[in-house]
Amino acid sequence: MKTLSFADFPVQNKKVLVRVDFNVPLDEEGQIRDDSRIRAALPTLNALLKRGAKVIAMSHLGEPKGKVVPNLSLAPVAERLSELLSCKVFFASDSIGPKVEELVAKLAPGELLLLENLRFHPGESSPDKEPSFAKSLASLGDYYVNDAFGTAHRPHSSVMLPQFFLSKAAPGLLMEKEIDHLGRILNTPKHPFHLLVGGAKVSTKIGVVKALIGNLDALLVGGAMANTLLAAQGKKMGSSLVEESAFPAAQEIVALCKQRSVPLLLPVDFICAESPDAPSKVITLEQGIPQGVQAFDIGPKTRQLFADKLAEAALVLWNGPLGFFEKKPFDAGTLEIAQKLASNQKAETVVGGGDTVAALEEADLLPKFTHVSTGGGACLEFLEKGTLPAVEALAK
Ligand code: ADP
Ligand code: MG
Repeated sequence: MKTLSFADFPVQNKKVLVRVDFNVPLDEEGQIRDDSRIRAALPTLNALLKRGAKVIAMSHLGEPKGKVVPNLSLAPVAERLSELLSCKVFFASDSIGPKVEELVAKLAPGELLLLENLRFHPGESSPDKEPSFAKSLASLGDYYVNDAFGTAHRPHSSVMLPQFFLSKAAPGLLMEKEIDHLGRILNTPKHPFHLLVGGAKVSTKIGVVKALIGNLDALLVGGAMANTLLAAQGKKMGSSLVEESAFPAAQEIVALCKQRSVPLLLPVDFICAESPDAPSKVITLEQGIPQGVQAFDIGPKTRQLFADKLAEAALVLWNGPLGFFEKKPFDAGTLEIAQKLASNQKAETVVGGGDTVAALEEADLLPKFTHVSTGGGACLEFLEKGTLPAVEALAK
């Protein structure tokens, strides 16, 4: 996919509308719990500001469903942004309209204006409900840059603006990096290429497995997703989290691996308990998990099996935690494998998925991965379909 580069735009003294992903987690007091998404946008914002652009940044936050929800205001983000940038940061209490236009008109080169939560307008998520919204947004800028990979799979108004910016729209640095890394995984992966998947639902991951299987050298499955694959083959999984409606999809994955001669590695033992708070013990697949007992993590033999296999890879793509990581000690399998991947210097290691990234972030393991995808749904959909609405819109 060919796109323009914003580095080629003469942005000095021009208004540049930048779609960023400032959808940060907030705590009960409305304080920003984690500002990584704000920091992730800084390279693009700084590059534009340094070159004398007047930057108009816009984002959504949460799901206000087309109404003004004061708790979902981007005002705290503007404050944090002004601490992180060395320029003047202004905040507009709406994303379109005369007051916003006035603030834009007053903006000096090298200054930034952050617009209020785009989703306070119904026209952001449902363009047909407010057809003028996209046009009003577009009228604020001379150029358009999209750096919000996390929403690149949703054809929302702020994402589809390139139609108003002929030859004046480009991806930001973060978006470029995502397209580059994920595009290479799809088109020219290094071999051996091993895919590691986990998480809760087979149904959300099967598309990716199908899209990549032709290029895979091994498929490793953990987490509740493995429970479903095993249960679908008649294994005794006791009361573990199993997605019965996905048995046909699970059987399809097993059959595809066989057909393509791709080794499929499934857990051979588990950390099990009667409930997340009850004492846990190791049960092997061979023993079978009794009724009333659940598998919450991969066991020690499985960790060794997975680590050994992953050590052979030149490229590892990982999506989905390998256990119920939110509850100790069931994070241990995920963290042990993450540690191994993080210390692997010779392989390209790529990790995506909202929950997976959250698990590794907590353990401070992310910096050691080759690429960390900032998109959950967007990452999966890009790998599945080879493109995304936002990327299509930016194509030159
Ligand atoms: P991601 O967001 O990284 O794509 P998913 O949303 O598919 O991951 O799945 C994450 C969820 O799967 C987590 O909430 C995790 O607790 C759950 N999970 C994984 N393995 C198990 C398991 N064995 N039992 C129960 N829940 C599990
Ligand atoms: Mg998730």
